[in-house]
Amino acid sequence: MKIDLDFFFLDQIDDYVMLIDENFDIFFKNSKIITASGDIFDKKKCYQTIYDFSSNCSKHGLECPIEIIKKNSLTKYHTVHKVKDENNIERKFLVATYKLSKEDLFLEMFINLDDMKIVNKVSKETIEGLIDKIPKPVAVETPDFIVFNKKFKDLFQLNKDSYSSFFTALKPVFDSQVLYDFIYSLKSCNEPKFDLELKDNKGQLFSFSFVPLKIDNIFKDFYLWIIETIHQDEDLFRTLAETSAAGIFLHQGKFIYVNPALCEITEYKREELINMNPLNLVHPDFKNKVKELMLRRLKGDKTKHVYEVKIITKSGQEKWVQVASSAVFYKDAFAGIGTVIDITDRKEYEEKLKKLATYDSLTNLYNRYMIEEFLEKEIEKSKRHNVPLSIIMCDIDDFKKINDTYGHIFGDKVLKKISSVLKANIRKSDAIGRWGGEEFIIIAPYTNVYGAQKLAEKIRNLVENTKIDDVYITISCGVAEYKYSETKKEFFKRVDEALYLAKKKGKNTVEVAL
Ligand code: GH3
Ligand code: MG
Ligand code: MG
Repeated sequence: MKIDLDFFFLDQIDDYVMLIDENFDIFFKNSKIITASGDIFDKKKCYQTIYDFSSNCSKHGLECPIEIIKKNSLTKYHTVHKVKDENNIERKFLVATYKLSKEDLFLEMFINLDDMKIVNKVSKETIEGLIDKIPKPVAVETPDFIVFNKKFKDLFQLNKDSYSSFFTALKPVFDSQVLYDFIYSLKSCNEPKFDLELKDNKGQLFSFSFVPLKIDNIFKDFYLWIIETIHQDEDLFRTLAETSAAGIFLHQGKFIYVNPALCEITEYKREELINMNPLNLVHPDFKNKVKELMLRRLKGDKTKHVYEVKIITKSGQEKWVQVASSAVFYKDAFAGIGTVIDITDRKEYEEKLKKLATYDSLTNLYNRYMIEEFLEKEIEKSKRHNVPLSIIMCDIDDFKKINDTYGHIFGDKVLKKISSVLKANIRKSDAIGRWGGEEFIIIAPYTNVYGAQKLAEKIRNLVENTKIDDVYITISCGVAEYKYSETKKEFFKRVDEALYLAKKKGKNTVEVAL
């Protein structure tokens, strides 16, 4: 047999190393094997050289790495062989086998585990003590023993004192072939793997993490198995969701979960919502916005969004809801997840507050605050574009007397009626507000003093001819056009003076300010 010089580096290794072909014939032995077996050129097969077996290891109840590598198309495989020596003492070998890519050869390395003091250093009890503190189901497997923490034992109802391997412990729970393939594919990859999913015989899903542990950089045959049950988490989630006061949903383009609170908000039954496109609930004004966000969720965008939209319930009622949404990975794909709170009452209250702050509650005209705001803007426009701007101040004549004669309730009716007459006779670009008790202001942009005077005269005339419960009412008006560079206050003062003059001249009249 010719020995390729390239393999001489294997002589440097202080373990048994050989190169074998698929018929178990030895192609190369390193010096450690030669020293132990004595003969370089004997025609012995690998199992004869190492163990004195007459036939292949698998016939002796040991895993043959070459067979496993070939059967599963793997590139490497590690296993532990326990064999009795001539004195009937059990010896343990870690057999690390690698398929060489170019040649049809396998490199096998036999590491005598009895030489490795590290195994004795880490006792079963030490590991048990350590993993019992981990709040997840955990198992640690070594060539000598396998230990499970309490959570693991409880999860899989392991009641025997000891198990020989991870495989034998879990065989009753999973399909044996699936479990076997799973374990061996992991053990041969020798690197950590997370979130591996496996279904048990009942269809319950488990998530595994697997970590091969290196201790002191030498011994690699420690495996740490961490298991989480996806269904247990899901059960917890469901219990919380079912009792939540907020609506909760999960969708993958269509609802796949809704809780009772969401049914209550939308008035739909659960079976009506399941498989419904969430967009069907959304008010047309908000469909585009919601659709865009839904698509982002299905692509896995987990950014949390809180937004307010209108929905339409089964009975056709419009409701305001606040939605807080994100994305989760659920059964092979991303899903949109979120909560829904009915905020219709709050929205109505907000609308009311907004109205209260803008409109006078008796006449529904702008209040004094809004009129001032509006006038400020119009003054700016008038100055910037050099366009005319006029205001009219109206005051009901002898209103005190009306109140005194016919009562306050009638007085209110007069205020409302006159407000509606004024409102009906101004232009869209004009603004009208209640300035004080029985005083009104009309702001007329793009209108000079003559135009405003005409409008005031028209209104005065209309009011004079409006009968309210057999009572005739009159108003007096002051009119003023904005003078460039005067302040808002000065502008108001001039119109007020004009009104004062109108009253002085006998009421039911219009006066123009200079
Ligand atoms: P003049 O022709 O000079 O304007 O006399 P007047 O009586 O109209 O004017 P005065 O300012 O003396 O009285 C205004 C009255 O308007 C006094 C107040 O009782 C009444 N008033 C103010 N706000 C309201 C209201 O909201 N409802 C009713 N019914 N009356 C109001
Ligand atoms: Mg008055
Ligand atoms: Mg007054």
